[in-house]
Amino acid sequence: MARAIDNGDGDSLHEECGVFGIWNVPDAAVVTALGLHSLQHRGQEATGIVSLDRGKFHSHRGLGLVGDNFSEPRVMAGLPGRTAIGHNRYATTGDTILRNVQPLYADFEFGGFAVAHNGNLTNAHILHRQLVRRGCLFQSTTDSEVFVHLIAISLYSTVEDRLIDALKQVVGAYSLVALSNHALIGVRDPLGVRPLILGRVPDAGPTGGWVLASETCALDIAGAEFIRDVEPGEIVVIDDNGVRSIKPFTATKERFCVFEYIYFARPDSVMEGMPVYNARKRIGAELAREAHVQADVIVPVPDSGVPAAMGYAVESGIPFELGIIRNHYVGRTFIEPTDHIRNLGVKLKHSANRPVLDGKRVILVDDSIVRGTTSKKIVEMVRNAGAKEVHMRISSPPTTHSCFYGIDTPEQSKLLAHSHSVTEMAELIGVDSLAFISIDGLYRALGKPGRNAADPHYCDACFTGDYPIALADQEATPERQLSLLAATN
Ligand code: AMP
Repeated sequence: MARAIDNGDGDSLHEECGVFGIWNVPDAAVVTALGLHSLQHRGQEATGIVSLDRGKFHSHRGLGLVGDNFSEPRVMAGLPGRTAIGHNRYATTGDTILRNVQPLYADFEFGGFAVAHNGNLTNAHILHRQLVRRGCLFQSTTDSEVFVHLIAISLYSTVEDRLIDALKQVVGAYSLVALSNHALIGVRDPLGVRPLILGRVPDAGPTGGWVLASETCALDIAGAEFIRDVEPGEIVVIDDNGVRSIKPFTATKERFCVFEYIYFARPDSVMEGMPVYNARKRIGAELAREAHVQADVIVPVPDSGVPAAMGYAVESGIPFELGIIRNHYVGRTFIEPTDHIRNLGVKLKHSANRPVLDGKRVILVDDSIVRGTTSKKIVEMVRNAGAKEVHMRISSPPTTHSCFYGIDTPEQSKLLAHSHSVTEMAELIGVDSLAFISIDGLYRALGKPGRNAADPHYCDACFTGDYPIALADQEATPERQLSLLAATN
């Protein structure tokens, strides 16, 4: 789930998420907690698990990290069964309230149903208003609850048909993991913007043990092997008969999120057959070919800039050095309490490694510039540590547009690259030179000849403004929203 419905009290959230589901293994909730732990980078604000045991659902949700919520034996004992799903949620603004924490669960006439969502529905507001008009009582402010109500009011009889009916009404980017009394279900949106993979647990009995997860990095700890990516527009149904695939949508060209490769995914994950780590190193090497400048050291902004900086260093032949050290024990709870601590900002997280930087010409490599605040502070820190020159190289094209498909980005006016040229950005950040990888260079690094505007293959809307999925909520005028409402009554 990515973006919450604004309930009028300012509780409008922007979220990224990780999902995990497991079928037919002992202590499924424990394995789910481990899987969620390896997906912690996709969301740190809240987490939840729903397990299924002999037809009965059990759930536990909490604010904070997976380890904070699922370590106690008492909690795990309350989540029995051989099947479970889980969710990690990341919200950057607004209150994280418990009723928004997933998986969502509801009792229907056909039985229980739990669902966890990564992504963002772009017509959630329109659907929400239509559903409220029809008498649906929303329990949360998350866009994901729209799925629950659409399934509830569907006139079809089976869970699968109701789910397909619901999916045909939503517009957006989504990877879902859901659990009914009889099946574990995985869904990827028709364009496959968000990731979802299928894995198998060997030796789990005749019908097999199965895993669904946002990323392959969750497989090892679950004792599972990678089978394949869930395909764009595919519904995977896992039950006592094994795995079934349903493809209810007309086939469209896929548009996987390129930002997963640049920043979001864990480097040891493999996405669409490409190891994320290799992708990042190749992007760094391409960046060195495109925008090199003489320097003494290549320094990554840790952690996200590390693989790209390694690729850059190898390609340019300049030594890679850890000139900035990251403190891994900075939690949001520590940053938030007082203005004084908040103002320390980046210094809590990063510090300069003076012996590496003093008197040197430094190339800093980072994955992206969003608002520019991090870069500005890092550059100042590197200069204060004695760097003679500071050049910045970014392993993504300038972020000029907001994401509406599940990656948290601020509104467009707050994106530095939206209103500033590269030269202006360089001046503002305080570097001697600044360069971003070109969009064609990015595609080349990912094994394509360049960006083909007629069939880009990736969703790169944050860099190009080419939004492949209709932004229905954004585009709907109040008049149009009213006519949509009228049409449903
Ligand atoms: P900013 O200070 O706003 O320019 O932030 C840029 C930094 O935030 C980069 O170093 C990125 O590693 C990181 N970043 C980029 N996108 C995101 C995101 N969606 N969520 C959290 N951090 C991000």
